Amino acid sequence: MNFDLTDDHLTVKNLIQKFAKSEIEPTIKEYERKKEFPRGLIKQMGEYGFFGACFPEKYGGSELGFVNLAIICEEVSKACPGLGYAFNMQAMTCPFTILNWGTEEQIEKYVPSLISAESIGMFALTEAGGGSDPAGSMKTTAKRVGDEYLINGSKTFITFANEADVGILFAKTDTAAGHRGISAFIIETNQPGFEAIPIEMSGLGYMVRSCDVFLEDVRIPKENLLGKEGEGFKIAMNALDYGRLTVPARLIGIAQGCLEQSLMYANERVVKSHRIGEYQMIQHLLADMVVSIEAGRLLVYKSAYLKDKGQSATRESSHSKYFASEIATKAAQSAFEIFGGYAVTDEYPILKYLNYANMLHTGEGSANVQRILIAEDALGWKDANRHHISRKYSLKSDLQ
Ligand SMILES: Cc1cc2nc3c(=O)[nH]c(=O)nc-3n(C[C@H](O)[C@H](O)[C@H](O)COP(=O)(O)OP(=O)(O)OC[C@H]3O[C@@H](n4cnc5c(N)ncnc54)[C@H](O)[C@@H]3O)c2cc1C
Repeated sequence: MNFDLTDDHLTVKNLIQKFAKSEIEPTIKEYERKKEFPRGLIKQMGEYGFFGACFPEKYGGSELGFVNLAIICEEVSKACPGLGYAFNMQAMTCPFTILNWGTEEQIEKYVPSLISAESIGMFALTEAGGGSDPAGSMKTTAKRVGDEYLINGSKTFITFANEADVGILFAKTDTAAGHRGISAFIIETNQPGFEAIPIEMSGLGYMVRSCDVFLEDVRIPKENLLGKEGEGFKIAMNALDYGRLTVPARLIGIAQGCLEQSLMYANERVVKSHRIGEYQMIQHLLADMVVSIEAGRLLVYKSAYLKDKGQSATRESSHSKYFASEIATKAAQSAFEIFGGYAVTDEYPILKYLNYANMLHTGEGSANVQRILIAEDALGWKDANRHHISRKYSLKSDLQ
């Protein structure tokens, strides 16, 4: 057993830290002040290969693997938690799902431009009836008419939808078949009848731009069906399984950011002639952060390591999503306490870290839902493995 990062991992970590200092930190406040989508920054990240870490070279990827992707996600999210969303749209949930389930034509047409961030992606699953029950709440329909599908319905919380060029959309091709009636489509957003309206989320600093999406007689050619009719639920669960690698890594980045800020502040802030870091109750908060982040990071690396070996990490990703959600929200709460009143000022990123930690606690399968799956799996209930879906693509086998 070896817990060390390799020289390659450390080189990647170092490079991303430099990128965060020189490119993200100086520009992100200006994007936020102007409420502008950071397309330029995302494009730069795409050109540098941030999103292509787990994609084969023949589609423009760098084949760096999942551990490196986790490292990249952590460092970017520490610098700007909102930018972390780009890893779902430009890497895991959107293009990786096309890579896993698409035809060669679909992969060649969409994957290279998404991972280079030439085009912006989205993943449209959630509807107003409840994200924790995507199949039960889905009202959006896809009706086959000749060589096309006609899409009608609406989605909510769809990140980047108003900026997206292309994305994956889930709709019911058979409304009587429950989750087996859901199909997945690749949708180009320039189609008539597609409208995306950003939801106001000022607490998150305007980076996320999650949208309400309205679909009225949107036409999708039959060639853009992803997988087979009725496979949509399987595809969605498989996509979220991969998303559960990046989201915990992003949560660790947020927690690490809280820790670094808190250490700096506890060393500087003097109250009653003592640096607050000398007070035992502050030290308890710091010690808990140090240990829980270390443990959370190891869980993230374990699931990434398994994926790099070409193995399933469904169980481990669930563990790391649940644990990282809990420790990141706790770290952000502790940082809030350490900073006192200054936590809410724009001078420090504490309030933003807290908001993102709380929000990611819910995203990609809420912590509660993960708890249910973890307990059912531990109890040995077969149904708990319903997310355990084999995939046709394995990075390891592709590299061999
Ligand atoms: C900023 C942001 C970005 C997002 N981006 C996307 C995106 O790009 N694409 C997309 O498709 N969706 C996206 N989502 C939606 C996200 O996936 C959902 O918010 C999430 O699935 C939870 O759904 P919900 O908000 O409807 O909560 P609900 O499903 O209504 O759940 C509410 C609460 O009840 C709890 N709960 C639910 N069921 C149970 C149970 N059985 N036992 C115990 N507790 C339970 C949940 O844990 C949660 O705490 C985004 C959401 C946000 C906030």
